[in-house]
Amino acid sequence: MSRMLDVSDDVRAEIGDEEADRLLAGENAPGNYDCTSCRTPGDSGREATSTVLFVGDETAVLAFAHATCIPSQVVPVAEEQLQGAVRSITASQDGSAGDGSPEQAVLGVTSGLVLIEGELQPALVVEPTSAVARPGADAGDEFLPLLAEQGFQPVADLRAMPASLPGWSVLLAAGQLHAVLQPGAAGGTPVAWWQAHRPLQVTDSWRSAANKSQKVLVLAAPVGSIGQQPREDLLRSALDKAAAEGRLVAATLPLAGT
Ligand SMILES: [Zn+2]
Repeated sequence: MSRMLDVSDDVRAEIGDEEADRLLAGENAPGNYDCTSCRTPGDSGREATSTVLFVGDETAVLAFAHATCIPSQVVPVAEEQLQGAVRSITASQDGSAGDGSPEQAVLGVTSGLVLIEGELQPALVVEPTSAVARPGADAGDEFLPLLAEQGFQPVADLRAMPASLPGWSVLLAAGQLHAVLQPGAAGGTPVAWWQAHRPLQVTDSWRSAANKSQKVLVLAAPVGSIGQQPREDLLRSALDKAAAEGRLVAATLPLAGT
């Protein structure tokens, strides 16, 4: 039994005794990992390590952290965001816009490489499938103002990397995209701003670029700005057009996981 890995009772309750025991026996232990809290490398064979489970109603993602950073724990994920992710993944898989009601905005997330400052940067492009109204309001598209309040900055052109956004991160596990995390209420544990119902595949080149830079450019535009672009040069053109029209916000987020 590994004494270096801690599985808390609440994590054990979520993943089950069998999976917890396999982790503790080292069969499923991560070995080397990137700490989900401080994002520096860890080694579950040599350092005290906490298991951290990001959990929604239908999806759970297991991650690891230095025990000195955070204790083993379950991090709840907002059901509302989870439902949005379910629909957006379904929509991207069947190529349709999904069947959500018009009032229910869904975040479509596309990964791609974007050339900035002479380097191909791993990027996520986020575009809702409909207008995003402010909670309680029944009209208007407040997607960009809401993101600006979270610290995303307007992009006039894509020549420089945008500022980083404290407390936010992009969660990649085993080479698949799981979630975009934002700070919890009152400095609590992070919650998912967007979570994939099923982990989203990224290309090998995207993953290696993200592992190299340890950061991900997140670009967001209101519905109708970007669309589904089959090639990265067309994606770039659509992004440049949205930026020129003042319809693009961005932030640089650190990578959590590998
Ligand atoms: Zn750490």
